[in-house]
Amino acid sequence: MQSAHGRIVKCDRGQELGDHRQNRKLSALIGVEREGIADVCPIHSGDPERMELREFFCPGCMTLLEAASPGFPIVFDFLTDLEALYRDWLGRPLPADPSA
Ligand SMILES: [Zn+2]
Repeated sequence: MQSAHGRIVKCDRGQELGDHRQNRKLSALIGVEREGIADVCPIHSGDPERMELREFFCPGCMTLLEAASPGFPIVFDFLTDLEALYRDWLGRPLPADPSA
């Protein structure tokens, strides 16, 4: 998504989640679950005192963005290759970055 602030990530309902090069989870609301981890993630069901399931919610609409099994620090999953996305999937060049 292009904005006056550069290339950003938005949730499906339009809430801005920050620069696309940054970890969007860090601008999300984070819920921590310690009960029932074995049900959803058997391989991480060791010591319940040390295990947690993190849920990341959009701060604008409270949509669950994703849930992640335990990991420290909060993992930045991937950086989207915007040029390839536009070229290979949308069939047009990536618009210029207004913040560049
Ligand atoms: Zn939202």
